[in-house]
Amino acid sequence: MILYNSASHKREEFIPNEPGKVSMYTCGPTVYHFAHIGNLRSYIMEDILDRYLRYAGYDVTRVMNITDVGHLSSDADEGEDKMLKGARREHKTVMEIAAYYTDAFFADCEKLHIRRPDIVQPATGCIDEYIHIIETLMEKGYAYFSNGNVYFDTSKLEKYYIFNEQDAEDLAVGVRESVEEDTNKRNKNDFVLWFTKSKFEDQALKWDSPWGVGYPGWHIECSGISMKYLGEHLDIHCGGIDNAFPHHTNEIAQSESYLGHHWCNYWMHVLHLNTADGKMSKSKGEFLTVSLLEEKGYDPMVYRFFCLQSHYRKALVFSWENMDNARIAFDKLIARIASLKPAEGETVDEAAFAEVRQGFVKALDNDVNTSLAITALYDVLKAKTNDATKLALIADYDRVLALGLIDHAKALNDKLAAEEAAKAAAKKAAEEAAAAADPFVAEILQLIEARRAAKKAKDFAEADRIRQYLADKGVTLVDTKDGTTYKID
Ligand code: AMP
Ligand code: ZN
Repeated sequence: MILYNSASHKREEFIPNEPGKVSMYTCGPTVYHFAHIGNLRSYIMEDILDRYLRYAGYDVTRVMNITDVGHLSSDADEGEDKMLKGARREHKTVMEIAAYYTDAFFADCEKLHIRRPDIVQPATGCIDEYIHIIETLMEKGYAYFSNGNVYFDTSKLEKYYIFNEQDAEDLAVGVRESVEEDTNKRNKNDFVLWFTKSKFEDQALKWDSPWGVGYPGWHIECSGISMKYLGEHLDIHCGGIDNAFPHHTNEIAQSESYLGHHWCNYWMHVLHLNTADGKMSKSKGEFLTVSLLEEKGYDPMVYRFFCLQSHYRKALVFSWENMDNARIAFDKLIARIASLKPAEGETVDEAAFAEVRQGFVKALDNDVNTSLAITALYDVLKAKTNDATKLALIADYDRVLALGLIDHAKALNDKLAAEEAAKAAAKKAAEEAAAAADPFVAEILQLIEARRAAKKAKDFAEADRIRQYLADKGVTLVDTKDGTTYKID
């Protein structure tokens, strides 16, 4: 399998540290608000990688943090704490906000068929681990204490920039969202490992530490949580492209300085989902959430399908028109799958299955190319094989795509069958009503009822008399298990 590694800027053959096993770490959400569908694009594409590795036979352990402390409004440790901002907005405590939006995040993930990582760890649960790493960094001379905060000293590194070669000045400016510069730093890119003194006296969550009561910086949580569960050698680290700098750059700096060796082999970054007028936001304009999509009548699977139609390394533009096009394509696809009807006793042609499946594997082996994988899905519909094989292939691909294809097709067939049945029942009722309006038919129906009553009362002579009376008029009665019907000669 080929993966593009943002750390080497190259497409590389994926070789895990341990044969057959993959350790995978994902930066989780900052739970101060709902996730927007841009955030969820990243999680959908990471989910595809996770599912595909399992499909390919790897034993995957995936870990995700939940950022419930330390993430300031600027990724460069400046501005207001995002969690505090959420708490103030909703007049709740930080922990109430964290619990509410963590649940909301996983509810959205479930709707989008994003598998829950094997281990989900809130950042507030590993304070001791961060303190231990920071102490080691202090001992090794990679960290310093300045005016109440502990900083990582980026000047101690041979190479700090991993994902981009830009000028240090440019990058630092790029991440600052018009907030004051922290004058306690020795170097512009130094970042906070532990805050004790900050402008935020009302910081709700504080812990004791060798440097005083305070709280951890945002970056240290991902290093701490990843190493706690996945050890000193990580196979794959994922996140949205905005995480590459400074967050992932800082994770590498502190993890490798702490460990004294190389840490993570592959970095996967998902490019952003943008709106036509630019960056997706939680505060400006329409706040695009899964719930909003549902309110507007879109099945969340249409959004997943929309994401899978493009490659994760290309920026994607969201518009309602694009969603409508995705919906039309998805509905057509489901209708085509629903029309596959294997004959009685038809079995899967194993040779055809293996041959067609190669197209799908090739697409995903090619740097998780979901756009080609969707093409491979359409190729199944065109393949020269029977419907049983096609349905088996679609179910197989859907272990990775997770679009609920078979369920949606079944639901469509059930809906069509129910509509058919309702139509047939209406037709029958109309025929019966028309017949009952005819005096001769009305008499027949009345006599059928009288005969039924006679039989029930064991008056078989009367029952026979009625049968004969009708026979003389050219009406034959037919007794069935559902009652008596009639034929007029
Ligand atoms: P956050 O909750 O801000 O920590 O972000 C959660 C994840 O969403 C991170 O992996 C971000 O890199 C990613 N992300 C943020 N904005 C976008 C976007 N517009 N498109 C795709 N991914 C995004
Ligand atoms: Zn992270």
